[in-house]
Amino acid sequence: MPEIVLSFEEARRVVEREAAKIDVSAHVTMRAALATAFNRILAEDILADRDLPPFPRSTRDGYTVRSDGAAKLKVVGEIRAGITGELPTIKAGECAAIMTGAPLPPGADAVIMIEHTALEGNTVSLQRPVAPGENVVPQGAEAHKGDVLLKRGTKLTPAALAVAASAGKSEMRVFARPKIAILSTGDELVEVNQQPAPTQIRNSNSYSLAAQITEAGGDAVILPIAPDETSRLRQLIEEGLGSDLLLLSGGVSMGTHDLVEPVLRELQAEFFFTGAKIQPGKPVVFGQARGKYFFGLPGNPVSTLVTFQLFAKPMVQVLAGATPQPLRFLQARLRSDITVKPGLTRFLPATLSGEFGRTEVEVVKWQGSGDVVSAARSDSYVVVPEISSGFGKESIVNVLLM
Ligand code: AMP
Ligand code: MG
Repeated sequence: MPEIVLSFEEARRVVEREAAKIDVSAHVTMRAALATAFNRILAEDILADRDLPPFPRSTRDGYTVRSDGAAKLKVVGEIRAGITGELPTIKAGECAAIMTGAPLPPGADAVIMIEHTALEGNTVSLQRPVAPGENVVPQGAEAHKGDVLLKRGTKLTPAALAVAASAGKSEMRVFARPKIAILSTGDELVEVNQQPAPTQIRNSNSYSLAAQITEAGGDAVILPIAPDETSRLRQLIEEGLGSDLLLLSGGVSMGTHDLVEPVLRELQAEFFFTGAKIQPGKPVVFGQARGKYFFGLPGNPVSTLVTFQLFAKPMVQVLAGATPQPLRFLQARLRSDITVKPGLTRFLPATLSGEFGRTEVEVVKWQGSGDVVSAARSDSYVVVPEISSGFGKESIVNVLLM
């Protein structure tokens, strides 16, 4: 069977192309209370039910004035946030004390900060000129009644929840979380609560993947460990293809016991790629079988972590109803040299440090893509492009955030 090995960028584009084909309008939706909606994906647009702000709002404590008026003014009242009843009209020669968040009264068009005034008896002297509109957010400046505040597909972040609350949404329609099956494969694996024989290792990938799935908005379904044996593997793959997406770990390299691809071919799978020029994670596989997408993620724990983030995550996000997020990079100054063999895009586990305006990054010492202990001490990946043989200390490099 022909191998399809793509560059990192090509492989990522293929995933994005396939993810864009998913019909979100077919997704199941449900109602969620505001207090439980954090991190869920909106399945409706949220509209402003009134102007925001609903009145011209003072942004300062001070005096509200007519900006074309005199520098000595009579104080005719006090306007606090939440004031009810009729507001005093500010005439020429007058002003009113006003608090942050309070509505501007008729006649006034600006607020002068208390720090720039002096009060003597009932008269305020302004110590500097006031511009029209100063320290005032006009009614509707943030949004007009009927405007879309949050679009369907928005992830309900803390700020988005504040917007929903402002619009009076004590509950809202969200997408049900997609079921994402996890199938770890390998004869050497035992469950976490089993005592491994000296040559066995505990299954850790199912748990890192479950956490990544949760973060991306999915509902992880961990299947039993699959042995490197065709018929049981096939049975579990078929079970996994009953979910919205199947993530396999292990069994995608070139070894004679790497049976994931052969079994998927038996199931008439279509393969979009069978490798990417990246490290860690080169043997990563992406395809479709029985109408479901699957990823074959290499079993080395750091490879599994990285390939989920690079390729599987946008697919989970789209299945969750979300607008897929781009990968997030920042630029940082290298603390030590990096030398690599060109030909693969490298994602080297690293730690960020430094101060504001000078972010530094250091690649962690690691024993390769099986070394999840080092990966757990890192918070990012230094990216070395395919054509590069590395960077010298002090170079500015791209860093992928986890
Ligand atoms: P494979 O991709 O199947 O060739 O596995 C590569 C390496 O990753 C082997 O050393 C495995 O022991 C290790 N590995 C595979 N699956 C897991 C897993 N679920 N948890 C932890 N390590 C794994
Ligand atoms: Mg294996």
